[in-house]
Amino acid sequence: MHPAANAKLAKRTRGWERQLGIGQRLGIIPLHTTAVKRPTGALQTIRIADKSMERSHRLATPVTNSLQLADRMAALEPSATLAMSARAAAMTAAGQQVIDLSVGEPDFPTPPHICRAAEAAIANGKTKYTPAAGIPDLRKAIASDFSRRTGLAVGAAQVIVSNGAKHALHNACVALLNPGDEVIVPAPYWVSYAELIKLSGAKPVLLETRIEEDFILRPEALRAALSPRTRMLLLCSPSNPTGVVYTADQLRPLADIAIEANLAVVSDEIYDRLVFDGREAVSVPTLRPGLESRTVVVGGVSKTYSMTGWRIGWTICPEPLAKAIGNLQSQQTSNPCSVSQHAALAALTGPQECVSEMCRAFQRRRDLVTARLTAIEGIGLPTIGGAFYAFFDIRQALARAPATGIRTSLQWCEALLEKQHVALVAGSAFGAEGHVRMSFAASEDTLTAAIDRIEEFLTARAAE
Ligand code: PMP
Repeated sequence: MHPAANAKLAKRTRGWERQLGIGQRLGIIPLHTTAVKRPTGALQTIRIADKSMERSHRLATPVTNSLQLADRMAALEPSATLAMSARAAAMTAAGQQVIDLSVGEPDFPTPPHICRAAEAAIANGKTKYTPAAGIPDLRKAIASDFSRRTGLAVGAAQVIVSNGAKHALHNACVALLNPGDEVIVPAPYWVSYAELIKLSGAKPVLLETRIEEDFILRPEALRAALSPRTRMLLLCSPSNPTGVVYTADQLRPLADIAIEANLAVVSDEIYDRLVFDGREAVSVPTLRPGLESRTVVVGGVSKTYSMTGWRIGWTICPEPLAKAIGNLQSQQTSNPCSVSQHAALAALTGPQECVSEMCRAFQRRRDLVTARLTAIEGIGLPTIGGAFYAFFDIRQALARAPATGIRTSLQWCEALLEKQHVALVAGSAFGAEGHVRMSFAASEDTLTAAIDRIEEFLTARAAE
C-alpha cells in the first residue's frame, strides 16, 4: 500500500480504537478487540477477540452510535392510551369487532371551513418555514381569543405556537424545571404529565384525590405536599381523565398557596370550550391579580375543533418565558407545520357554531354514559362537567370477583378487551388504581353497545 494511504488508514484505525475503547467502557464490546482496516463504506468489519474466541461482526458505523439508551429513558413509560388503542387496532385488523374508547380524540371530522383554509394555504404557497414561535396572525388570534374570553390583556408576544399541546407542556417543563425540582400534580392526572416532568429531570409529586370529592384537590393536601424543592403546580380543568371542572372557589385557595409558596402554575386548559350545563371553565390567571405573572396556560385546537392530527397547541405566559420557549423551539423543532397554523387561524377566527354543536353532542353522550354507568351496581362516577371522559370506579367489582384473578384495573381492562372487545384505559395509567377511563367521543349507538358489553362482562365476572 502507498505510504500516504497507509498513514491515513492507521489514523482511521486509531479513531476506531478510540471508539472501541468507549464501547468497551460501556460493556458492549469485549476486551482485546482490534479494528480491521476498512476505510471506506458505511459498514465496518470489526474483529472481536477475547481470550476464548475470535469472531467477526459487522457493525453500523460509527461504533459510538450504539443503542445504549440514555439514563433519562430508563424511567420513561410509553403512553398507556396510545398502547391500548394500538392493541384495539391490531384486533380490528385481525377481523374482530372492537369498540375502541381508549383514545382522547373527538370523533367528528375537522370542520370543512378549516380544511378549506388549509387547502388555500397550500395553494398560496404557505408551505415554507414560518417564525419558530408561529405566524404573527395566529399568535395575535390566540391572544385576542384568550383576552376576549378571560378579560385579561394578553399580547401576541406572550403566545408561542407549538406542535400540539403536549409539545407546549413539554416546552414549559423544559424551560422552567431544573433537575431535582418537584412538581405537584393532582391524581388522577393525564398520562403524559408525569413523564414530561421526569424528562426534564424534575420529580412529579402525585397527590391523590377522591372520587367522593369529585377528584378536587383540597388546599390542605396541597399545603402538606409542599417542600423546599416544590417549584410548580400542574392543574387541568376541565380534567382529562375525570371530566371534572373546578369552580373558581375550588381553584382560588390553590392559587393562593401557589402565590405564597412562589410556585409556577401550569394550567392545562385544552378542554376549556368543552363544558356542559352552562358551566364556564375558569382560567387560572383570572383568579387573583398578579397570578398571570407566574402562570403558563396551555391550550390548543385538537379538542375544540376536532383537529388532533394537525398538531397545533400553544402556551400563553409572561413575555420573557415566551421568548425562552420560542428560543427552545427554534432549536428543537423550528416552527409548527405552516399549513396547520393557517388551519388553526381559520378555526379561531371563523364561525364558532361547530364548537357549540360538538359540545352539545358531547353533553348528550355524557348524559347517556352517566345514566347507564351509574345504573350499574357498584360503579361510581364523579360529576362530569366537561371534556369527554367517564372515569369510573370499579373497586367494588374488583373486590367482588376475587376468583377470577382480576385484581387490578389493568387486568380488568385486558379481560374486557379480550372477552367483550371493548378498549378502555386502566386507571393505574392515570395514577388512580381501581378506576377505568372511557372516552365518550363516539356515537350514542357505539356507547350504548359498549356499555351493554361492560354490563355483560361485570355480570359474568360476578357470577364466576
Ligand atoms: N392535555 C390534555 C389534558 C390532553 O388530554 C391532551 C390530549 N389527549 C393534551 C394535553 C395534548 O393535546 P395535543 O393533541 O394538542 O397535543
